[in-house]
Amino acid sequence: MTPPKVVVVGGGITGLAAAWRLEPLARAGRLEVELWEASERLGGAIRSYAVAGAVVEGGPDSLLRRKPEAERLAEAVGLGGELIPIHPQHRGSYLYHAGRLHPIPEGLEAGIPTRLGPLWRSPLLSLWGKLRAVGDLVRPPVPVGDDMALGELLRRRFGREVVTRLAEPLLSGVYAGDLNTLSTAATFPQFLEWARKPGSLLAGAAAARRARPRPSAAQSPFLTLAGGLEGLVRAVAARLSGIPVVLSRPVVAVEPAPAGWRVRSEGGETVAQAVIVAAPAWAAAAILHGLGAWSGLLAEIPYTNLAVVGMIWPHDAVPRPLDRTGFLVPRDEGLRITACTFVHAKWAYPEPPPHAVLRVFLGRAGTDILREDDAALLAIARADLERVLGRFRGDPVWTGVFRLPRALPQYTVGHRQRLDQLRAALTRHPGLYLAGAGYDGVGIPDCIRQGQAAADAVLAHLGLPRPGP
Ligand SMILES: Cc1cc2nc3c(=O)[nH]c(=O)nc-3n(C[C@H](O)[C@H](O)[C@H](O)COP(=O)(O)OP(=O)(O)OC[C@H]3O[C@@H](n4cnc5c(N)ncnc54)[C@H](O)[C@@H]3O)c2cc1C
Repeated sequence: MTPPKVVVVGGGITGLAAAWRLEPLARAGRLEVELWEASERLGGAIRSYAVAGAVVEGGPDSLLRRKPEAERLAEAVGLGGELIPIHPQHRGSYLYHAGRLHPIPEGLEAGIPTRLGPLWRSPLLSLWGKLRAVGDLVRPPVPVGDDMALGELLRRRFGREVVTRLAEPLLSGVYAGDLNTLSTAATFPQFLEWARKPGSLLAGAAAARRARPRPSAAQSPFLTLAGGLEGLVRAVAARLSGIPVVLSRPVVAVEPAPAGWRVRSEGGETVAQAVIVAAPAWAAAAILHGLGAWSGLLAEIPYTNLAVVGMIWPHDAVPRPLDRTGFLVPRDEGLRITACTFVHAKWAYPEPPPHAVLRVFLGRAGTDILREDDAALLAIARADLERVLGRFRGDPVWTGVFRLPRALPQYTVGHRQRLDQLRAALTRHPGLYLAGAGYDGVGIPDCIRQGQAAADAVLAHLGLPRPGP
């Protein structure tokens, strides 16, 4: 009897995690699995370059440890020994404000203060801004309903300064988003709970912090792979024995077929009993267009264009010590860069790179940084960097511009309701699954979790057993 067939559409980390979960059954001959990827490479947003003795990431660089899926996957594919922490002496980051870099106060979680002492001592907020923020403890609850823009909730609880100087720059590192449109329910649902009861976000966050096991001060909150995160992509792909990975195979449509689903691409088509669409939501919208008006919900998930400029400089060209992981730039400071990572300082490399390695980020929701050509992006990055750090001497050893069109999904207000509607629509299409950054978490661990959950749903649909944890 021929085993049932599954096609995974998209070879980013979500699709790879799904394929990896199905691999034991494919190896045992109980399932036929294929992975179809539109581009000529696997990894999607994850892309690492080895240059001038350093690793420069074009996309993500950090694996959040609190969500263990990425660390577990790295260990499962034999990369446990290559995971490295943040350099213990360079923990923490700066924030640029009023022409200077300031250490980000301790105790901020998702941009909101959870400890009063560090907030009180920080020069980032005016006295009025501090009093307004602390007023959260006594202000009556804000009616929040099912969802609310994150910016509005934080502004009403803490005032404008906390939003523009702390929350927006910190959160834009994750979402590159506009806080005035980002959904609280989809990004920080606990804020809605706290806003309802006890009403104060400071009190809610402090209680949650007390209830959690204390993370060891020695433990780094993030990990990376010494050779770059693309190593995870390569290691997973190398272990997909029995799963053909077809590159340069963009899927144009998934349509109902008598025995399941017809997966169509310009390069060929196949019929499968189950399909996991792990392409970005905008691509899924086009692929599933023929299945009904509900596919329009996918097109409603906006994505932001971003650019990352990599720069490698001789250490003696750098005008000041780079002694933390990097810095963030609030929207209203008059710069076009949003953040910079001091890569060589951030990670505890077993063999530190010979030069200073910087990654400069550009692009925010509501703007289109990719209108600029590479030369302009490089010039903006250097000019803004010099406004923050001072004048660099001479020329860089290397520069590179990574253009990232439609790179990060925006979970705008109503995202959760859209997901509920999508899930309801998918129940009418058994055997069809959606997973990836566009839906239930943008971070790599979230994507791995979603890919694995979609694979488990496929196995349940086909009446096959799940492999072990
Ligand atoms: C600049 C940047 C920095 C980030 N930093 C971090 C970080 O430090 N830590 C972290 O955890 N996360 C970070 N993220 C987020 C994280 O990297 C991504 O959300 C995640 O990698 C997305 O994985 P994915 O597989 O869902 O989607 P993608 O990586 O977008 O992969 C989707 C794949 O589908 C393919 N595809 C598209 N259309 C089709 C089609 N029609 N047919 C077949 N295939 C198709 C694409 O080519 C792509 O390979 C960052 C993201 C960016 C952009």
